[in-house]
Amino acid sequence: MAAKTPKGKTPSFTPAVYRRIIEGFIGNRESMLRELARVGFKRVEILNRAAFLGLNEDFIKRCTDVETLSVRRCLRCDGEFLSLGPQNRLCRRCNARD
Ligand SMILES: [Zn+2]
Repeated sequence: MAAKTPKGKTPSFTPAVYRRIIEGFIGNRESMLRELARVGFKRVEILNRAAFLGLNEDFIKRCTDVETLSVRRCLRCDGEFLSLGPQNRLCRRCNARD
């Protein structure tokens, strides 16, 4: 099968994948992990990426509107970060520098 990801290689994290991860943290994390594992993501890589972005239960609990949550690129450093909404365009590190 040509479309299948080669063994040992992780597919890239696209906005759709990030959306699925966020939904998994809001709802059923286990089914999200299983679903992404089927398309080639390793569980530990998903969890590491989530941790890197600061995505965890605490964050979700403090978040007032999970619908607007998404992974965006920081306007200042171009790094990926967990954005609370369209008005939130700087990552935590760059925000803290102001
Ligand atoms: Zn930044």
